[in-house]
Amino acid sequence: MPVKNRFAELLPEITEWRHDLHQNPEILFETHRTAQIVADKLKAFGCDEIATGLGRTGVVGVIKGKSTASGKVIGLRADMDALPIHETTGVDYASKIPGAMHACGHDGHTAMLLGAAKYLAETRNFDGTVVVIFQPAEEGGAGGKEMCDDGMMDRFGIQEVYGMHNWPGIPTGQFAIRPGGFFASTDQFEITVRGQGGHAAQPDKGVDPIVTTSAVISALQSIASRNVDPVEQVVVSVCSIESSSKAYNVIPNSVTLRGTIRSMSKETRALAETRLKAIATATCEAFGAKAEIRWIDGYPTMVNSEAQTEFAAEVATEVAGACDHAGIFMGGEDFAYMLEERPGAYILVGNGPSSSLHAADYNFNDEAIPAGCSWWAGLAERRMPAA
Ligand SMILES: [Zn+2]
Ligand SMILES: [Zn+2]
Repeated sequence: MPVKNRFAELLPEITEWRHDLHQNPEILFETHRTAQIVADKLKAFGCDEIATGLGRTGVVGVIKGKSTASGKVIGLRADMDALPIHETTGVDYASKIPGAMHACGHDGHTAMLLGAAKYLAETRNFDGTVVVIFQPAEEGGAGGKEMCDDGMMDRFGIQEVYGMHNWPGIPTGQFAIRPGGFFASTDQFEITVRGQGGHAAQPDKGVDPIVTTSAVISALQSIASRNVDPVEQVVVSVCSIESSSKAYNVIPNSVTLRGTIRSMSKETRALAETRLKAIATATCEAFGAKAEIRWIDGYPTMVNSEAQTEFAAEVATEVAGACDHAGIFMGGEDFAYMLEERPGAYILVGNGPSSSLHAADYNFNDEAIPAGCSWWAGLAERRMPAA
């Protein structure tokens, strides 16, 4: 089963959909137009059921096979949202919305899953049910979590769930995957160091939150170097320092730090949180200051299930002739929530030598469409073979 011929035929049409989505990017949960287009197309394809409004602006389509006697139900998920970036690609179908663009290729993801839905609704060459899932707000809004919280998995009886992301640097239409931890947890922290401000020439009269903060930042580096097992992955990054004074001759009352912690396991994630709180609290105390800590839970680690990863790689190998072993990525992915609810797997499809994701000159590579669509269709036909 190399690339399915039907997708070579459908390529111009799917590309047209993609370019239309690209011209009309929508951010986070504001994917109203995109969701409407998705729902309209699923209806035109003859899906058996279409549900809108899951996770606010998410859309679900149900496609039954020639038979459903197997009782199997698999979910195939794409994301629909764009990013608050001003596009500089210069393509003739560039974003019409200033300050918004599809810089992560979710336009391509939506178009590919629509293409697969069209094919699957046409052929229905499987014994079971396919549930196509189109989610909003992957880029930091946890739209996937909201769809799960709305009861999507139980409502549609989804037993396994699969996801795909285009990946710059992987040859176009080739695939890569790994079992286990794949994308990182993405928690955020804010630490306000409260001291006692005053005249810069009289530091002895107060408690300097600047000097305290510098000690806190240095000490936080020991989470990665001294607390977490060296063979585990963790990133602790302080990304912003904000003083309550901008003056040259005033010791401020307080300093606020903001940053992120990334990890690949529940244990490391919990350890990093405990250590961050302990280090910030005790270091501030040692300097006579006080730490106020706000911990903001981000996406959990995205963990691919063993059996489904093996199966996803088999289908990818049939499509592309091979499937590479992917490395760990310390970025986040909210498909993690769906993988917490059901076994499944997330795969990367090559976008060729393009600019990196989230760059203003990035563009999804339409030449990856036949491979991506074939993988989606192959998952359904192979996981639930027709009698
Ligand atoms: Zn992204
Ligand atoms: Zn993305």
